Amino acid sequence: MEMATGIEMLRLNFHGHLIHPVLLWDQEMAILIDTGFPGQVEDLRAAMENVGVSFEKLTAVILTHQDVDHIGNLPEIVQQCGNHVKVYAHELDKPYIQGEIPLLKDCHLDNPPKGKVDYTLHDGQELPFCGTIRIIHTPGHTPGHISLYLKQSKTLIAGDSMYSVNGKDQILKLNQALGNERL
Ligand SMILES: [Zn+2]
Repeated sequence: MEMATGIEMLRLNFHGHLIHPVLLWDQEMAILIDTGFPGQVEDLRAAMENVGVSFEKLTAVILTHQDVDHIGNLPEIVQQCGNHVKVYAHELDKPYIQGEIPLLKDCHLDNPPKGKVDYTLHDGQELPFCGTIRIIHTPGHTPGHISLYLKQSKTLIAGDSMYSVNGKDQILKLNQALGNERL
């Protein structure tokens, strides 16, 4: 589903569950927000090529949080795209993503996905990518969960924060964070 120009919500089917990584791109770069379950890298490649963005164009992966349906294909992406892909995540989820400590939710995999986080993100940070991405720290679902606000298109990517047990708090926090944007 195209959310705005250069923003596509991808659809990956995992045993009947739909997973929605988001792809952002412009002339200079392509950014994948979350990566799906392990073993979906070919589906991911096909979904990207479907919207005309080659897998090899990926320049960054931003992980909203550590859960296995979000970091699942990180190792394959880095392996296939090489070192020009930079990986971003909040510092509180970084040690889990890097495999230094076990993922908070038991994913029943002998060999859970892991990968190096090149850059850590913090609340209020703005990345000068694809019309500016503002990072909003929305802990609760995981300690380092982030939501992303795409300034140009006024689009919020909330990851799993809307579904957390503290969902009310998170939505309130998001509203506060976005208050200045008059949404
Ligand atoms: Zn999650």
